[in-house]
Amino acid sequence: MIYLDNAATTRIRPEVLKIMTEYLAENYANPSSIYAPARVAKMAIDTAREQVQKAIGADKPAEIFFTGSGSESINWALKSIASQNASRGKHIITTAVEHPAVLVTLDHLSKEGFDVEILPVDEYAQITAEQVKNAIRPDTIMVAVMFANNEVGTIMPIAEIGAHLKEINESRGKDNKVYFFCDAIQAVGRIPVDVNACNIDLMPISAHKMYGPKGVGALYVRRGIKMMPLIHGGGQERGRRGGTENVAGIAAMGLAVELAIAEMDDVAKSHRELQKYLIESTLKAIPHSRLNGHPENRLPNSVNITFEFIEGEGMLLLLDSKGICASSGSACTSGSLDPSHVLMAMGMPHELAHGSLRLTFSKDTTKADLDTFLETFPTIVERLRQISPLWEEFQRVGNIDALLGK
Ligand SMILES: *Cc1c(COP(=O)(O)O)cnc(C)c1O
Repeated sequence: MIYLDNAATTRIRPEVLKIMTEYLAENYANPSSIYAPARVAKMAIDTAREQVQKAIGADKPAEIFFTGSGSESINWALKSIASQNASRGKHIITTAVEHPAVLVTLDHLSKEGFDVEILPVDEYAQITAEQVKNAIRPDTIMVAVMFANNEVGTIMPIAEIGAHLKEINESRGKDNKVYFFCDAIQAVGRIPVDVNACNIDLMPISAHKMYGPKGVGALYVRRGIKMMPLIHGGGQERGRRGGTENVAGIAAMGLAVELAIAEMDDVAKSHRELQKYLIESTLKAIPHSRLNGHPENRLPNSVNITFEFIEGEGMLLLLDSKGICASSGSACTSGSLDPSHVLMAMGMPHELAHGSLRLTFSKDTTKADLDTFLETFPTIVERLRQISPLWEEFQRVGNIDALLGK
């Protein structure tokens, strides 16, 4: 099997699996108990909190809360900031290309009376810091912009947005702050992320996107920000998220993020080479194909290409039959036949958005893997185009724009 869907999830590292099984099978005590084995479990959580803190440049381990997923961190952060600040404003700014966990949560908040403004993106799925700055109103309470896009890999100007918000907040005073929420789930471990350098206030991360287990996440919350309790219970996570901690998962997440950061530069360097190779070879081998996302300002492990005149589902099934795992968009929405909201926001017509393929590398992806893909893929495209009515039409008309009615 050749797994090229590492934006959907990654394979757990052996070292991380090892520490995980240790805390499940041996050091299994409840961290809230008072005997020695419990202290071992508690220490594992403390260590993991420090590992996450260091990985994202946070000031204090207490700014890190562990949760049950990236989506949970997102829900908690957005709902908490909204409800705690509703009395002074209901305006929330976001972008059209956020992950569904952000967009659907904000849609829920808009039904509860919040005024959610969705900024349009350019053809690369990017927004500018100016756009955010210009959208700020006296009743704005939060800006939610992702660090890097999970579908097309484009990196947002987060440091610049953070700098603008810092300036704006200085003139508004501390009780009237615009909070900066940044979904960095695809970015952490792949490119440098520093909450202070970017002035980020709330930042979710997820273990399974960086060779950790599924079902563990964390939320960075800048010191001084009040959070509503997510789960009332036994006082775990400083009273914000009750329930006996997922010690094994948390210890695993701490180690996973530490190891990902330690090798980040080396992996990114090799990914940039693989990325260049894959993009150039694919565009060259297959006529009527185009790269999606920003040509330079993109995650090193991510490639997204549209192939005109074919259906993404057919591509994925034929690739699957050759043992190659890829995606047509995000795993979260690929069960549906709707075209990707990210590609649509970039201005791509339905017909083209359907023919898009996302290939994302892991630290273990090799050039040989890509060569296997490159050997099989052109035949797949040819086969699908042969049965495509659009392709047949194109052979006759010879102009894609005319076909799409432009
Ligand atoms: C995967 C992902 C999420 C959701 O994280 P889970 O841990 O799977 O809930 C949110 N945002 C982005 C950008 C992601 O890639």
